[in-house]
Amino acid sequence: MTTIQQNLDTVRRQIAQSAQQCNRDPQQIQLIAVSKTKPVMAIQEAIDAGQRRFGENYVQEGVDKIQHFADSSFASQLEWHFIGPLQSNKTRLVAEHFDWMHTLDREKIAQRLSDQRPAGMPPLNVLIQINISDEQSKSGITLAELPVLAAQISTLPNIVFRGLMTIPAPEPDPERQIAVFRQMEQALDQLKADYPQVDTLSMGMTDDMAAAIRAGSTMVRIGTAIFGARDYSSATH
Ligand SMILES: *Cc1c(COP(=O)(O)O)cnc(C)c1O
Repeated sequence: MTTIQQNLDTVRRQIAQSAQQCNRDPQQIQLIAVSKTKPVMAIQEAIDAGQRRFGENYVQEGVDKIQHFADSSFASQLEWHFIGPLQSNKTRLVAEHFDWMHTLDREKIAQRLSDQRPAGMPPLNVLIQINISDEQSKSGITLAELPVLAAQISTLPNIVFRGLMTIPAPEPDPERQIAVFRQMEQALDQLKADYPQVDTLSMGMTDDMAAAIRAGSTMVRIGTAIFGARDYSSATH
């Protein structure tokens, strides 16, 4: 087993453990392996260990990786999640290549994704990003802005509104982490009343995964714990 495969094993065990501690079924929590800045060889190792869902932050890098694996025998099993900030001039590549988009924060982007989703592909699954810690610099909308954006995007034909995503401000205290994530859980519950297709809560990274699972996360996005620390020094983006 390679290091990445051992790491994957460990993360899967941690997910199962966290789920059991709060009486959740571990199957309700999907693991998104965040492979940004990592080479295709690292992704291949994860695929060989059974991982099928991957998250990418940079449009062109993500598309290059999707295309790298497009001719493989397992291509149809792979699920690609766009989890980075998206400018409106890059929406077409996301619409044409990805299965999920986690960072929707304005109607214009939703409209373009729906318009640009190719006929013959299933609708793009989208999550609205919530700025739960209300940091000035971070992307996402506030919970107060959620009802309007949810109503706007849920009528678009080629995207499906599936739920919410958040990246809270770093917080060392696990109890505080849980309290912040609980606000997301409540918001999701309220949404479900109006939007029956809403079922997804994307939250939890390497440093706050257990707290996110405790507060109802259904998708954890894990990079460092699987692929190791990232090196941005040679990045082109
Ligand atoms: C990089 C990134 C992750 C993974 O973070 P780690 O701390 O390495 O697990 C998850 N979500 C988003 C949106 C990211 O940009």
